[in-house]
Amino acid sequence: MKRAGYTVTEAAPDVFFVEGPASNWTILRRGERFTLVDGGYPGDLPLVRESIRDAGLDPADGDAVLVTHAHVDHAGTAAHFARQYCTPVFSSAAEHRQLVGVEKIQVSPGQVLVRAWKPRVLRWGTRALRAGGRTPVSVLTAEVWDDALLASLPGGPVAVPTPGHTPGHTSFYLPAAKAVITGDALVTGHAISTRNGPQSLHPIFQHDGVRADSALAELAGLDASLILPGHGPALKMGIVEAVDVVRRRAGTRTS
Ligand SMILES: [Zn+2]
Repeated sequence: MKRAGYTVTEAAPDVFFVEGPASNWTILRRGERFTLVDGGYPGDLPLVRESIRDAGLDPADGDAVLVTHAHVDHAGTAAHFARQYCTPVFSSAAEHRQLVGVEKIQVSPGQVLVRAWKPRVLRWGTRALRAGGRTPVSVLTAEVWDDALLASLPGGPVAVPTPGHTPGHTSFYLPAAKAVITGDALVTGHAISTRNGPQSLHPIFQHDGVRADSALAELAGLDASLILPGHGPALKMGIVEAVDVVRRRAGTRTS
C-alpha cells in the first residue's frame, strides 16, 4: 500500500518490505511480534512506526532491530527502539563499533558533493541532511548477534556476511520466503544513480570495492528469487541472474 513518504508491500507471507523516502527497511512478522531490519534515517521515524502499524503490529512489540550496516540512513531509528521500548539492537561483530558510535566509516554528503558533483547528487545531499544525515549513529546498548539468536527471531533470518560497503555489512537470507535482504551490497536504484534494476552503489560509497565484489559472489550462492534491497524497489528475480546484471553493468558505469 502506498502511504505518504513510503510504500509497504507484503513481499512474501509475513515479510513486509518498506520502500522509504531514501532507503528501505523490512518487517518480519510472527504473530504479534516482529523483527525490524534497518529503519531509515532518524527523520524517517514516524514512517517506520506507521509502517509497523500497517503490518498489523505495535512498534513496542519488536523482538529485535537488526542492521545490515550502521550507516545513518539504515540505522537512524534503531536508538529510538532501544530507548523507547528496550528493543534489543544487533549488528555483526565487525559493524559493532560503528553502531555504538565509536567509529564512523561513511562518506559525508559534503565529500560526495565535492567528488561527484551533479544536480541529482545535490538533491540527494540536501535530502540526506534534512532527514538527519548528520546525526551520529550511537546505539549504546547494541549487541552482536549470533546465528542461534537470529534463528530464534521472527522471520528466522540467516546472516550472510557481505562486507565491502562497510567492513561488517551483512545481508539476510530468509529461507522460508527464498528472499534475501541485500542492504547496500546490491541495490535496485539510488537517488544519485540514473539506472534502475540490480546494481552496485556508486564506488564513492564503497569502503572496499574488492570486498564488495566478493560480497556479490556470496549473494550469488543463495537460493533466492526475491531481492529486498537497501535502496530501490523490491525485485522478483533470481539472485544469480541479478548479480550477473550488476557485474555486466559495473564494466559500463557512466554515473
Ligand atoms: Zn544506504
